[in-house]
Amino acid sequence: MSEAEIDWDSLTFSLTQTDFMYIATCNLGGVWEPGKVLPYGKLEIDPAAGVLNYGQGIFEGMKAQRSAEGNVVLFRPEENARRFQRGADRLGMPPVPESIFIDAVEQMVAANNRWIPPTGRGALYIRPVLWGTGAIMGVAPAPSYTLCIFVTPVGPYFKGGLSCIDLLISDEFHRAAPGGSGGVKAIGNYAPGMMPSINAKKQGYAEVIYLDAEEHLYVEEVGAANFFCIKDNVIYTPELTGTILPGITRASLIDIARHKGYEVIEQKVSTELAMSADEAFCCGTAAVISPIGSITHGETEKVYQNRTVGKITRELYDTLVGINTETVEDTFGWMHKVNLDLTINHA
Ligand SMILES: *Cc1c(COP(=O)(O)O)cnc(C)c1O
Repeated sequence: MSEAEIDWDSLTFSLTQTDFMYIATCNLGGVWEPGKVLPYGKLEIDPAAGVLNYGQGIFEGMKAQRSAEGNVVLFRPEENARRFQRGADRLGMPPVPESIFIDAVEQMVAANNRWIPPTGRGALYIRPVLWGTGAIMGVAPAPSYTLCIFVTPVGPYFKGGLSCIDLLISDEFHRAAPGGSGGVKAIGNYAPGMMPSINAKKQGYAEVIYLDAEEHLYVEEVGAANFFCIKDNVIYTPELTGTILPGITRASLIDIARHKGYEVIEQKVSTELAMSADEAFCCGTAAVISPIGSITHGETEKVYQNRTVGKITRELYDTLVGINTETVEDTFGWMHKVNLDLTINHA
């Protein structure tokens, strides 16, 4: 497929196969060496691989996009690299050095350059994964590990602008427990959310809101996105207690809001606070910001801003997207330009 044959406007958030993937391997107790770029294709894996039997794996999600300046840019990739290291550590895997991670991501972007959508029409979604691929029978760290990175072009999450979503608070299911793996992107955290999410969708909701597993009183996350609400011009978001994934979008929005002079409070956010707020939204790399139109908890439904996008939500969204597309000044030094002429280490 040549560049001209890609129908950019029909892209959604789904997998389109691209040309190249990146693979590096490391033994337990060993040292990571830079990997190789290979044609995208299937992997061979031992049925006794640690990741297949015991879920020893983590992932990341990031985006490269063509900015209004004509650059190909990544957003704070060092933060993804560091979170990937913390996740590896939590799951007993050898952390990938930041320099190898970033170099690998850049090579994937450069090698798959023709799959990066034109400015404003989407992004190249980058998916790094780290798996225990060595064979192991007992429940213990696998003897060897694979870092794989693949990419796929994705369309804008909301075509035709921001739209509000309806959410359902789950009283029955939890995403993460104290001391567990909720604070890292462990692959095993996501399958247990599928059934609650499908059930919520059957009832007409976009996603479920998970409460804390101890007291069932505090909002933790919206599916796999972080939660914010705004009341009397004060911005609230659940504090990072270990059960909440420390989103890079979340951290960036806190910085942007404080820089604009808003008070931002990181604390436990009760369902009462959330459902008495003026605006609410959730955020993450995929959608950036999804404004929340309503939240239902049992018999109670709270509608925000008559299901339109609130003023502060809009302001934060415009600023973050502006920084991402290099149309708003990058005062924080977040954007990372990719050198498309870098050396690609083909296998
Ligand atoms: C990835 C993820 C987020 C969002 O993190 P970003 O770094 O902003 O993309 C939020 N919650 C969960 C559970 C996630 O997996």
